[in-house]
Parts: sequence; structure tokens; C-alpha cells
Amino acid sequence: MTVKVALTIAGSDSGGGAGIQADLKTFQELGVFGTSALTAITAQNTQGVHGVYPVPVEGVVAQVRAVLDDFEVKACKTGMLFSTEIIMAIASLLEEYPPIPLVIDPVMIAKGGQSLLLQEAVQAMKENLIPIATIITPNIPEAEVLTGMKIVTDEDIQEAAQIIIELGARAVIMKGGHRNDVLEAKDYYADCEGQSFTMTTPWVQTKDTHGTGCTFAAALTGFIAKGYSLSDAVAEAKQFIQAAIEDSLRIGSGHGPTNHWA
Ligand code: PLP
Repeated sequence: MTVKVALTIAGSDSGGGAGIQADLKTFQELGVFGTSALTAITAQNTQGVHGVYPVPVEGVVAQVRAVLDDFEVKACKTGMLFSTEIIMAIASLLEEYPPIPLVIDPVMIAKGGQSLLLQEAVQAMKENLIPIATIITPNIPEAEVLTGMKIVTDEDIQEAAQIIIELGARAVIMKGGHRNDVLEAKDYYADCEGQSFTMTTPWVQTKDTHGTGCTFAAALTGFIAKGYSLSDAVAEAKQFIQAAIEDSLRIGSGHGPTNHWA
């Protein structure tokens, strides 16, 4: 039996709802073989992040190299990258290999407010990683950091998407889940060829949304690995995350996880 392979370069969530754990569970659900390179270990549960322990840069590089030297990786995703050093090392390492579709989830801050990306590392992400991205998946607060804009209206979202494309990403999906709209979850896609569309699903009222961003980006990566076009992969990932939020799990005492086997 053959199977498509995907790689996630991200942080570990001991609580199992976000990070590497969410990515691997999502890949499995999509029938894609998941490989991983850990960038940081977090001591975490549904209440929040209690500690962050970065992996030494050599260890991150060695993991990515071990995977890329052996597997034909069809799509790669980055999540929590934590530091400038890790971002720079991954960007230059990926350039050594034939191009692989790259999904960047620009993870910055956990729901509880803990930093998953050092502030000084934002510049390295903009200069070194975004230019090699196939697609980047910011939520509104992350898009505000990347563009320096205050994003409120639909026009703001479109303008911010253009700025992010000008940083060098081939495409961007602006996730609307942080907007104060209780009726619908509206995401905006735009790419460097001028294609754009909005995807809307009904708002799901739940506090159990831990790992939503990771799961969405992992699903997108999985569908790309399976050979879907970028716009089809985005649409499938949107349906996947909608189902995962609708079926989210009431486990733990804080924000429960979205359901990866939805
Ligand atoms: N922990 C890790 C390792 C992550 O990669 C992420 C998300 O990107 C989070 C925590 C944050 O998850 P949430 O904000 O959905 O709770």
C-alpha cells in the first residue's frame, strides 16, 4: 500500500489538542502519513500553556533533514516556531531541497495569552519564511501583527491579504474566527494570481475550540499532499474544521479540543 506523506514542523502540546498532536491526528484522519519535527515542547492542558521548552536548533534541523532525506514529502506545514534561530534554520534548510508545497500557520499567541513566537522573531518570519510559502493561514490578530494594520472591516481584510501576498506568499487565507460576528465564520482567500473568494459557514457557539488553527492548517496540508488544488484544499479544510468544531470535545476543565476524527 502506498500513501502520501506530509511533514509538520511545530510545537508539542502535552494536552493533545493543538500543535504536533493535532497535526498528526488530522493527517491520520485524512489518510495521509504524518511525519514531524518538534520545535518546542509545551507543558499544556485545556487551561493553558504552563511552560515552553524549545528544542535546540540543531535538533530541529536534524529532524527535518532525517525526514526529507528519506521520504518523498508531498506537503509541509509549520506551526509554532518560537525563535528567530529556528525560523532562519528551517527557511535555509528547505531551500536545499526540491520545492515542497509549504503551509505556514503563523502561530504567535496561545488562547491563554502565552507567547508561542518571540516578538523579535516576527521579522524573520516575514523576511525568510513567508517568501517561500505556498499559503499562509493567519487569524486576524496574526494578520494585524504581520501587516501593522488594525483590521476591522471586509475591506481591511482584503487590503491586509494583499500586503501579505506582497511579502512573497503565493496565497493567503485570512481566518475570520476572531471577528466579533456571532452569525457566521467568514474566511477570505486571495492569491498572487488575483483569484479571491470568501467562504462562510454558520457560527458554532462553543468554548471548545482549542487547536482550531493547527487543525485547519494541518487539514489544508493534508489535502495538498493528496493532490488537491490550492483552492480546493482550502475549501475542503474549511469543511473539515467546521465539522471538527461542531463535534468538539468536552474534555478537560478549560477550552476542550476540536475533534480530529470528526
Ligand atoms: N500550543 C501549540 C504547540 C500550538 O501550536 C498552538 C497553536 O497554534 C497552541 C498551543 C494554541 O492553541 P489554541 O490557541 O487554539 O489554544
